[in-house]
Amino acid sequence: MAEKQKNIILTGDRPTGKLHIGHYVGSLKRRVALQESGAYDEIYILIADAQALTDNADNPQKIRDNIIEVALDYLSCGIDPEKTTICIQSALPALTELSFYYMNLVTTARLERNPTVKTEIRMRGFDKGGEGIPVGFYTYPISQAADITAFKANCVPVGEDQMPMLEQCREIVHKFNSTYGEVLVDPRIMLNDNETCRRLPGTDGKAKMSKSLGNCIYLSDSREALHKSVMSMFTDPNHINISDPGQVEGNAVFTYLDAFATDGHFQRYLPDYENLAQMKDHYRRGGLGDVKCKKFLEKVLNEELDPIRERRARWEADIPGVYEILREGTERARKKTQETLEEVRAAMKINYFDNNALISEWMERHPAGKA
Ligand code: ATP
Ligand code: MG
Repeated sequence: MAEKQKNIILTGDRPTGKLHIGHYVGSLKRRVALQESGAYDEIYILIADAQALTDNADNPQKIRDNIIEVALDYLSCGIDPEKTTICIQSALPALTELSFYYMNLVTTARLERNPTVKTEIRMRGFDKGGEGIPVGFYTYPISQAADITAFKANCVPVGEDQMPMLEQCREIVHKFNSTYGEVLVDPRIMLNDNETCRRLPGTDGKAKMSKSLGNCIYLSDSREALHKSVMSMFTDPNHINISDPGQVEGNAVFTYLDAFATDGHFQRYLPDYENLAQMKDHYRRGGLGDVKCKKFLEKVLNEELDPIRERRARWEADIPGVYEILREGTERARKKTQETLEEVRAAMKINYFDNNALISEWMERHPAGKA
């Protein structure tokens, strides 16, 4: 039992659309770096199709179509199936069963307090009449706790919107372990050090970049599509003439430069400035036009996206290979999650058929002759 805690990573994405640069800086880029660091014993990425169905129950085709799409996004970014297990949530029955047991450890009042779920309820219009909030959606933080704990993950690299989920998961872990014994592992959230990357806004300068809001730059966007997005990007509406002083706060171009630009980019593409701080100063003073800023941003983004596009083209030529990666990964994950489920069932004393103990326990309580 005194087995050393392994370093295990679990993250995932909902297959509700192609992945965008918000996913990339919020989580995906980090996953690749952690994978390459060699510091982790096991790494899992879950394509959370069952969670996606909680608010897309009427659109299963959309979820189905995005399974291969999201897998292609992972592989294009450098996720290596030799080092990282990619798996599909709905094909792991242990997760559903764990969720069901964890539901007993969470109150409805606690679920109601989850700020991310509250925002999402508003975004999806579940609060505006209609049929109301689907129970599955309302309880998805519990199912997410099942995902994380089933893999015994101790490290979860995600965007800021996931903080309340991790908090809730940790509460479930503590409650479970104090009630049934130390089985579950306490996970730690790993956020990007760069605050802009934790919640990248959309190209409209609003909210977070989100598949559901259509304000995205997708990892699979061509150079032409990227050009269009950057050129129509929201800047400072009061910066009309080049000589006008401009505002960098809330200006999407500068937000993306905050997330992506390095001093090296300035040396390569815009040597007028040594770094972003100098460029921002000039914009604030006046005299720096939006088009120049946008052209620079486009080069910075293309430098990041070009290798992703190249890898994507290679994987797109081998879809049966991608399918096989998903099949094998899901099989590995099925074994892993099943092991945890067995431990949970034993701790909860519902492992009746593991052996004959149920009989001997009864006999002990009812010695012969005194039945
Ligand atoms: P949906 O609108 O269907 O919920 P989504 O765009 O929010 O989709 P998810 O699949 O819910 O994407 O999130 C996957 C991961 O990407 C999570 O770790 C989340 O924190 C991160 N993420 C999503 N959007 C952003 C963003 N704009 N900035 C930083 N991280 C993000
Ligand atoms: Mg989301």
